[in-house]
Amino acid sequence: MVYEKNQLLTIDITDMTADGEGIGKTDGYPFFVKDTIIGDQVQIRITRVKKNYAYGRLEKVVTPSPFRIETKCPFHRQCGGCQIQAMSYQRQLQFKESKVKNNLIRIGGFTPKLLDKVMEPIVGMEEPFYYRNKALYPIGADKEGNPVAGFYAGRTHSIIANTDCSLGVKENKEILEKILSYMKENHVTAYDEAAGRGLVRHVLIRKGFQSGEIMVCLVINFRAGKNTDFLPNQEKLIDSLSNVKGMTSISVSINRERTNVVMGKEIHTIWGKDRIKDTIYVRSVENDFAAARRGITFSISPLSFYQVNPIQTEKLYSLALSYAGITGKEIVWDLYCGIGTISLFLASKAKQVYGVEIVPQAIEDAKRNAAQNGIENVEFFVGSAEEVFPEKYEKDGIRADVVVVDPPRKGCDRTCLDTVLKIGPDKIVYVSCDSATLARDLRILCEDGYEIERVRAVDMFPMTVHVETICCLSRIK
Ligand code: SAH
Repeated sequence: MVYEKNQLLTIDITDMTADGEGIGKTDGYPFFVKDTIIGDQVQIRITRVKKNYAYGRLEKVVTPSPFRIETKCPFHRQCGGCQIQAMSYQRQLQFKESKVKNNLIRIGGFTPKLLDKVMEPIVGMEEPFYYRNKALYPIGADKEGNPVAGFYAGRTHSIIANTDCSLGVKENKEILEKILSYMKENHVTAYDEAAGRGLVRHVLIRKGFQSGEIMVCLVINFRAGKNTDFLPNQEKLIDSLSNVKGMTSISVSINRERTNVVMGKEIHTIWGKDRIKDTIYVRSVENDFAAARRGITFSISPLSFYQVNPIQTEKLYSLALSYAGITGKEIVWDLYCGIGTISLFLASKAKQVYGVEIVPQAIEDAKRNAAQNGIENVEFFVGSAEEVFPEKYEKDGIRADVVVVDPPRKGCDRTCLDTVLKIGPDKIVYVSCDSATLARDLRILCEDGYEIERVRAVDMFPMTVHVETICCLSRIK
């Protein structure tokens, strides 16, 4: 059979890629189709034909999969942020668990038998919507020139208006609408990317789930003039926004660059405080872990890194602490520590914790958070994990009983893994946002004296294809 572009075809979706695209085959020849769910029978239009596979666009669902559900968001196909919103949440969890397992088998070389023994059930959410504590909306203008907030359509830079993303908090809509009315009434322009003109580029909203405190930051293309205010009739905006329940901080971020980088480095608070606070409690998600219920309070600026799903973060960090099996005598290293979230929790039980992170501002936040929480048995270093960790070990002779790593998607640097192997901690806790690089790194560690004790996937980002994994390795005696 020869397939051609634009041809219509009906196929059964029998599998899914790690990115959430459905796969259907005719005579063994696979088609990749976005927006389809395993179990669907669909009509597709062929969009691209390659030698060994082709792409199709979903035209019509002929027979829906038993896992297909009504989506909450009418824009979910255009937006692309929630790749699997049309799949039941239970099935999403299963999809993520098998993604982790398959990577560990395929890339890590671990046997299904071993994984059946060490893998624990994925940690899902009770309410898999409205979980994000941070929203970043681009601002633009519609055809009539009215300001709109929304999301970029597909891979383009044109904005589709939608102030009601179902992953964010309910206050986002109210805040965005207030900003848009203020802009309209006061003739405040939206930034036009192509022309590099106009004022308001993005709106950042963050909410502390425990504290209820809200921060709004408008990213503006501001040029200093005779006006002392950053925005025209600034008081009107402040009057309107400061009435929102929980509003704690209103600021502007100045970004005059013609780039894709969203936030400008210069921040000015125009109302309220510079930072909001939030607390994360380490709770028990498993029966053998009831201790350490301590809460740690973080202060967050518009530029601070902070986990976006606080409910799952608590579960993930509880597991990290539990997997690390700390009794109080241990020296612990937290590599890729960010603002020190995990380090500070570890410090509540360990003897001494050392955190390493490459971004200097994150370390400033980490130190501030340690001080504000009165935590003294933690020390932070700026630098790359692969340089700082070996250096402190070799020059200063600092030991490590437990090493925690939480690297970015690309995983750990080889030097860093080699140092861990050389130091030989009793336990390694690996927190990963990409199970493919996790599998690659675990293979290296397990070829050289470690074995997997426990692994668990945690769903930090329901409706998307992303999945976090936590793994505990122990040194073979
Ligand atoms: N554990 C942190 C977040 C980790 S995200 C938390 O829970 O908040 C990964 C972090 O690794 C980022 O903060 C990133 O800046 C940092 N990073 C990236 N490459 C690094 C490297 N080579 N050495 C140290 N840190 C690095």
